[in-house]
Amino acid sequence: MAYIFPEKIFPNALTYYLQCPFKFKCHNDKEMKAEFVEKPENYIGKAIHLVLKHLFDVTQVPADKRRGQDIGQLVRYFWARMPKDRYSRDYWSSEDRRQLFGSEGQEKSFGVQTIAILNNYIASADLSATPLFLEDWMDCQVDEFTISGRIDRIDQDSDSSISVWDYKTGKLPFHDNVEKMMEEDLQVPIYAIIASKRNPFAEQIRAGLIYVKYSKIFNIVWTKDELTGVENRIVAIINKAKNDNDLLPRINNLCPWCEYRAVCPERDKIEGRGKKVDEVSW
Ligand code: SF4
Repeated sequence: MAYIFPEKIFPNALTYYLQCPFKFKCHNDKEMKAEFVEKPENYIGKAIHLVLKHLFDVTQVPADKRRGQDIGQLVRYFWARMPKDRYSRDYWSSEDRRQLFGSEGQEKSFGVQTIAILNNYIASADLSATPLFLEDWMDCQVDEFTISGRIDRIDQDSDSSISVWDYKTGKLPFHDNVEKMMEEDLQVPIYAIIASKRNPFAEQIRAGLIYVKYSKIFNIVWTKDELTGVENRIVAIINKAKNDNDLLPRINNLCPWCEYRAVCPERDKIEGRGKKVDEVSW
């Protein structure tokens, strides 16, 4: 293994540490390849992000024209111009898409579904936001560490308040207790800290998740002082991860979906997908 403690701490890496230290170790091992398989759902998610970024970018769409946009046209535009990966200037070709979706007909079904999701979301969403940043990579120092992430949207709400949002395009979380969510997943707390430090005028920081498919928002409001406590917790978790010389596997509810399951020392103990199914005989 070629594990190195990361120079920049990303929210998903630190959340992995909370779930399972061995997963964190694999994630930060340059030689380890996660079993990532591109799925139609990922494509839909990226298309939704591109359309929402365009919609909130005042250089592209005036704020008072956000609601009147032809979402079908926007989805089709970005669908055909999907970068192959984060660093690529090449787009997915029609043949790449046919292979991903199975057929042109199925691709159309997923595209139509994407248009419906966005139209449904936009029909009830508050589109009056004043974005300061859209899908920007940002980082900041906490203690001796650098935390970093790509934040979907930071809005200025008033002279002394901002909102930090991350779009989710998948299913709703297991539970809807916001405090518990923030304890188990460090993305929102980390984004709130970065947004706060990058916008020091803000005394109040609202941070949350927008589940686009369900038009559901989970958010929490921190004052700048309260965020200091959140920052202390993040620094304590980073220190714990850094000083953890064992990084042992910890079996948890997400093991069946773990991308490092094939190399996990505990893989034989993990139940989940692939369970034997006795089909009915009638
Ligand atoms: S399968 Fe479970 S125990 Fe194994 S590395 Fe993944 S999360 Fe950890």
